[in-house]
Amino acid sequence: MCEANILIIGGGISGLSTAWWLAEGGARPEVWDAAPRMGGKIRSHSESGYLTEDAAGILMNFHQEVDQLVEASGLSDKKISRGTDMRRYVVHKGELRPVPMKLPALLASSMWSLRGKLRMATELLVAKGGHERETVSEFIRRRLGNEILEKVMDPFIAGTLASDPDKANAWAVLPRLTDLERRYGSFTSGMFINRVLHKKGRANIAEAFSFFGGMAQLTKQMAAHPAINTRKEFKAVDIEPADKDGWRVTGVNSQGIEITRRFKQVVISTPAPTAANLLNSINGELGKLLQGIEYAPLTVLHLGMTRDSIAHPLDGTGFLAPRQEQLSFNGNIWMSTLFPDRAPEGKVLLTSYIGGARHPHRCSWSEQQMVGNTLQDLRQLVGVTGEPEYVRSVQHAQALPLYHGHYYERAESVRSQLGKHRGLHLAANYLDGVSARDRIIQGAITAQRILNSRRQSASREPTTHINPAVAH
Ligand SMILES: Cc1cc2nc3c(=O)[nH]c(=O)nc-3n(C[C@H](O)[C@H](O)[C@H](O)COP(=O)(O)OP(=O)(O)OC[C@H]3O[C@@H](n4cnc5c(N)ncnc54)[C@H](O)[C@@H]3O)c2cc1C
Repeated sequence: MCEANILIIGGGISGLSTAWWLAEGGARPEVWDAAPRMGGKIRSHSESGYLTEDAAGILMNFHQEVDQLVEASGLSDKKISRGTDMRRYVVHKGELRPVPMKLPALLASSMWSLRGKLRMATELLVAKGGHERETVSEFIRRRLGNEILEKVMDPFIAGTLASDPDKANAWAVLPRLTDLERRYGSFTSGMFINRVLHKKGRANIAEAFSFFGGMAQLTKQMAAHPAINTRKEFKAVDIEPADKDGWRVTGVNSQGIEITRRFKQVVISTPAPTAANLLNSINGELGKLLQGIEYAPLTVLHLGMTRDSIAHPLDGTGFLAPRQEQLSFNGNIWMSTLFPDRAPEGKVLLTSYIGGARHPHRCSWSEQQMVGNTLQDLRQLVGVTGEPEYVRSVQHAQALPLYHGHYYERAESVRSQLGKHRGLHLAANYLDGVSARDRIIQGAITAQRILNSRRQSASREPTTHINPAVAH
């Protein structure tokens, strides 16, 4: 049995970004994936002139490491970038209303009652509070009142994270806002101070982007790094400690042939239930913690339509649906407005997200039911007439892990159990954020940790370093 150095189990964006940063730091990692293609949930699909995404469709970024990865992997020319100031809509009393993005416009909007406006305007005066188990609903209600929770934050959490604001952990899913409160006492003063810093060039500018050819360009390019060795259709089925040091990992190929190899470092980047199965015999407590992570199901429904069959100008990113509006989906993104290559000339692509933690039963609707219910809502909201010329739906039984109230205790326990096993790492979207951006950052941090430990344990090896900025 030959010994290799670093194995990454799972070639989704979490595993690939860890591998990519390791490769940039001079290592030669191996990535195993059970599926016939790398990229995990991220997949871009071209058909009939439409380009649709199975999962991540927009990368919202404000981290320089993400820029660094995009540039170093040669994707800068393929990037389609949008500012984060594009109009966003929300449904209010059965109509689309632009979400005011600046404070004066927010306070002037007729979406709020006078009482609601006063409550928002006095955010500066609300005493600092909060705790690590506080939910999004508790946090927003405490600082800004109920109206903004119901009309904006509730649909934001349901629409972007498939989560439920009554259960989602505020520190975990709203890190920037909760951080503003912790550092400056209020959002209003925090945002003001950040704006001043931003003018002086100390903060990163936010940007929303994808690529010509779709988000899968990113995972493809990472997997193509010359120092990364990828093995598709190779499923890890067992991990056990090796005699002296490192790990013996068994994988099964598509012909059912088992191969056992020895690695010094192993990164598990699969969804939590698979990680739990792999780790149960090594550390039952860790297996139990991972097994307990809940996931929400979600269906992505893409509708391609002729431009002239929709009355609305579609002049924004799309819209989110508050709970009380009782729509059949959580949000509807106008993909072809964001990224023009998503639909043929004279056509548009509208993508809806159905189900999530609040309405998991909707994921069992047939495609016909989903299309019918979605069209009924779209007819009223954006003036759709006629039928779609293109339909594609993608079902994810376990779409996204839910960062519910006790997220911090669980994450801490996971890290403390993991710390007992030298050379074993977890890099996946049930820790440190679900977004593609957070996956890239976590990959960089995990890679740096591995490179540092290699350096410590083998001082004879040449020093490797990727970027000190990410090793915090
Ligand atoms: C519908 C949807 C929309 C989203 N939209 C956005 C968005 O617009 N913007 C954004 O930033 N994020 C978005 N996300 C989030 C983001 O896409 C995911 O969090 C991310 O892609 C998850 O990557 P991952 O590598 O952690 O997991 P996965 O992509 O699930 O990858 C895990 C990999 O492990 C492999 N595997 C499993 N078991 C084994 C085994 N035993 N051996 C070997 N390999 C194994 C699997 O085959 C898979 O390739 C969205 C997610 C979903 C579901």
